[in-house]
Amino acid sequence: GLRLVAHPVIRNRGTTVGSLAHADPSGEMTAVLALLGGSVDLARKGSTRTVAAEDFFVGPLEACIETGELAVSAYFPRPAGRTATEFTESARRHGDYAICGVAAAVTVDEDLRIVSARAAYLSISPVPLVLDLTDALIGQTAETAVWRDAAALATGRIEPEPDIHASAEYRAQIAGVLTARALRTATERAALIDPDTATGTTGSTGATSTTGTNERSAR
Ligand SMILES: Cc1cc2nc3c(=O)[nH]c(=O)nc-3n(C[C@H](O)[C@H](O)[C@H](O)COP(=O)(O)OP(=O)(O)OC[C@H]3O[C@@H](n4cnc5c(N)ncnc54)[C@H](O)[C@@H]3O)c2cc1C
Repeated sequence: GLRLVAHPVIRNRGTTVGSLAHADPSGEMTAVLALLGGSVDLARKGSTRTVAAEDFFVGPLEACIETGELAVSAYFPRPAGRTATEFTESARRHGDYAICGVAAAVTVDEDLRIVSARAAYLSISPVPLVLDLTDALIGQTAETAVWRDAAALATGRIEPEPDIHASAEYRAQIAGVLTARALRTATERAALIDPDTATGTTGSTGATSTTGTNERSAR
């Protein structure tokens, strides 16, 4: 998702934690944090608290940061086992805020059958929306899954708002298409994971890390 945040100039100046604190419903990293079940550390003089992603975003452009608090780090848990992810979005131009974006995580078992499928949405709801779409795909493989079933399950659960960029109907249609694509790619990736080398370690970024720096160091 990071490579889809605006352009390099913006990524080199903005910070990942600043992006989370900004709590833009169209922000990529907010959806990634929500999908992975991450958290943000908030510090004030003499105390620190850790807030789970589901509690951190309270409204459009509103995080639960109180007066006197500073977000000092964010944790993005790396999924363990045969779990893979994919991030995709649709924007009028590369680097624009997305009309809709989907971050997906799929877990498969030793027979490469889907046991969990989740997706987080941006530009769809006031705060990042995470949907469990397992019911539409459970027991299927990358070859047998009917991706449009998962797309239909997702579009039935979202209520996108219209704005100057897209109607609600168009946004819902894009959400369905992107859901199917993201889940398929994540499932195909999950099937390639060697569980002996997959580890569930935790990635973190401090408030002073720029998104540009993170991107470079990830290469
Ligand atoms: C032209 C342009 C295009 C962009 N496109 C995208 C895009 O496609 N996708 C996307 O996700 N974002 C996009 N952004 C937003 C950008 O990526 C940054 O997320 C955003 O500008 C915040 O940057 P910042 O870290 O400098 O935070 P600031 O702008 O400094 O702060 C943003 C808000 O968060 C608060 N804040 C910042 N850091 C902290 C902290 N540590 N603790 C507590 N509160 C804090 C500030 O008080 C402020 O209210 C775009 C920005 C621009 C200017």
